[in-house]
Amino acid sequence: MKVFKFGGASINSIERIKNTGGIISAYKGEKLLVIISAMGKTTNALEKVVDAFVNGRKDDALQLFEQVKESHMNIVKYLIKLNWQTTENHLKDFFTEVEWLLHDKPVREYDYYYDQIVCCGELLSTSLVSNYLNEIGIKNKWIDVRDIVRTDDNYRDAYIDWNYTRQKVKADIEPLFTDVDIVITQGFIGATDENESTTLGREGSDFSAAIFANIMDAELQTIWKDVEGVMNADPKEFPDAVIIEELSYREVVEMAYYGAQVIHPKTIKPLENKNIPLHVRCFIKPELKGTVISNKPVHDLPPVIVIKRNQVLMELASKDFSFVEEKPLGLLHEMFAKIKIRPNLMQNGAISLICCLDDKTEKIEKLALAASEIFDVQLEKNLTLLTIRHYTGEKIGELTAGKKIVLEQKTTETIQVLMR
Ligand code: ASP
Ligand code: MG
Repeated sequence: MKVFKFGGASINSIERIKNTGGIISAYKGEKLLVIISAMGKTTNALEKVVDAFVNGRKDDALQLFEQVKESHMNIVKYLIKLNWQTTENHLKDFFTEVEWLLHDKPVREYDYYYDQIVCCGELLSTSLVSNYLNEIGIKNKWIDVRDIVRTDDNYRDAYIDWNYTRQKVKADIEPLFTDVDIVITQGFIGATDENESTTLGREGSDFSAAIFANIMDAELQTIWKDVEGVMNADPKEFPDAVIIEELSYREVVEMAYYGAQVIHPKTIKPLENKNIPLHVRCFIKPELKGTVISNKPVHDLPPVIVIKRNQVLMELASKDFSFVEEKPLGLLHEMFAKIKIRPNLMQNGAISLICCLDDKTEKIEKLALAASEIFDVQLEKNLTLLTIRHYTGEKIGELTAGKKIVLEQKTTETIQVLMR
C-alpha cells in the first residue's frame, strides 16, 4: 500500500479538489491511505479564532469562525451534487464542536484551546473531500484520526504514543482495506487518553503520513505539493534554484535541521527506520517525477542554500574574567532545555561564548535574564544566518558579498555564516 499526503494548496478550490480526485483515481486498484491537510489557509484562519477567543473577544472569535464555516459550506454547495446533505451534517458536527467551546469562557492555557479549535481544519477538509470522492465513484472510508493517533497532552507539539497508535492502526485501519481501497484521514492532529484533541506542530501532516507509512509498512509515501520537487534553495529568493531528483534521508534531515522548509523535520525518521522511500511530487504536474528520497547515498549535489533571517547573536562573557568551564556551560545548556530553545550556532572562547538563536522574543528575554545570573549578556539582533551544504568557494563569495561576517563555522560538508 501507499501513503499519500496532500497539502492544503491541493484542495483550496473546487478546481483543485477535482484535480486531487483525478490524481487519486489514477491509482485505481491500489491501496491508498490518504492524508489531507486543512483547505488552503484554513489553519491560519483558525489561529485567528483562537487568538480572539483566548483574548476574551468572543464575538470576534465567533465572527472569524463564521468565515471558516462559510468557505467550507460554499465548496460543498458547488462541488457536491447528491451527498450534500450528509456532507453538510458531517461538517456541522465539527462546527458545533468548536462553537460549543467558543461560547465558554477561556479558563485553560492558550495551547489547549489552540488544539481544540485548530484541529477542525483537517476534519472539515477530509470530510468534504471524502464525500466528494465517494460521490464521483472513488469509494473510500473516512476516519477521525483522533480515534487512532494517541498523543500526550503537550498541546501544539504533542508527542506520539507509538504503541497505542500502532495497535489502533492494526485493529481499526488495516481491516478497512478489505472493503475499500482508499482510506482518508487527517494529519497534524491526534488525541490524548482523555479524548482532548492535540496537534503535532505546524505542517505536521507530513509526519502523520510517515507514522502511518511506518506502522503499515507502506511501499512508499508521496507528499503532493505545489512545487515540482525539493529544490536546492528557495526559488522565491533564488530564481536559479534547481530541482534535486534524488536525495538521501540523511541529506533531507540535514536540510530540515538548518531550516530549509522542505518537509516537516520529524517526517524522515519513521520512513528511514523502515526504509520507505519518500516522493515529493507536484499536484499541478503529476506527470513529473519530482524528488525521491531514500537510503541511497547521493553524490554530486548542487550547493544547498538555506537562509534564516531574524537571528540574534547572544554573547555571554564571564563576569570576573574566569574561564567559561564545564559548570557554567552545563548551566547554560540546562537553560536551553528548560526554555526549549536551541542555538543554531555556538562558539566557545576563553572567557566568553557566543550563540546564534532564532529571535523568538519571549524566549530570548527569558534566556537573557536567566543567563545574566552567571554571565554578562549582550545581544545583537537582525542578523542573517546563511547555511550552504556542499559549498564551493564561488558560492560562498557570491552569497556573502557586501555583507559583514560576524561568525563563521565550517565542516567539510557545511558552512554557516552569520551576517550583518
Ligand atoms: N494544516 C496544518 C498546517 O497548515 C498542518 C499541515 O498542513 O501539515 O500547519
Ligand atoms: Mg500545509
